Amino acid sequence: MPALLIASHNPDKIGEIRDLLGDLRVELHSLRDFPELKPTEEDQDSLAGNAMKKALEGASHTGLLCLADDTGLFIRALNGEPGIFAARYAGDHCSYADNREKVLRLMQGVSDRQAEFRTCVALAAPDGVIACLEGVMPGSIATSERGENGFGYDSIFIPEHGELSYAELDDRQKNAISHRARALQKALPLLKDILELQPQEV
Ligand code: IMP
Repeated sequence: MPALLIASHNPDKIGEIRDLLGDLRVELHSLRDFPELKPTEEDQDSLAGNAMKKALEGASHTGLLCLADDTGLFIRALNGEPGIFAARYAGDHCSYADNREKVLRLMQGVSDRQAEFRTCVALAAPDGVIACLEGVMPGSIATSERGENGFGYDSIFIPEHGELSYAELDDRQKNAISHRARALQKALPLLKDILELQPQEV
């Protein structure tokens, strides 16, 4: 079976991507299977730049086809913050809860709650990036935490056309609509084509 590396150590994200790839006939690995590899420094100034850097480093260090994603949360009333710095919004070594608290504090009393999640998914082979695709989910910031599922900012983000936060949806419901699902759905036809072209055992 052909192999695909998910360029992440984050079990929440790896789990979601596994579910989203569904019945794809592929042996999935993550960076947790390669403890000797150092995490990629996410020092680019865009989600696409960081996703491509992670995918290319993952592929060139392992020799595997590699898929990476990079996600940001863009809040209009905060001039686009936390943006691409969503992971460390409340400071180095902060927790998911610290980041949510900071957003809720800055958004206290703010009536414009428009926000969007964006994910870039990059696909790379050891000798270069193959593609980079974006998925966007518009929505709004809740006034307090809602729901227990998911991770990161899920309990304070309400996707458009609904009342429930991401964290009030179950995994299947979030994966049917999310920013990450939208990006991966664009990448999937390409990924299938590439995997079919990989040398097959006879
Ligand atoms: P990353 O750089 O793609 O790992 O994402 C940066 C940060 O965005 C993560 O540390 C999470 O806090 C947050 N994040 C990423 N994806 C999601 C999601 O699907 N829901 C909620 N928060 C997320």
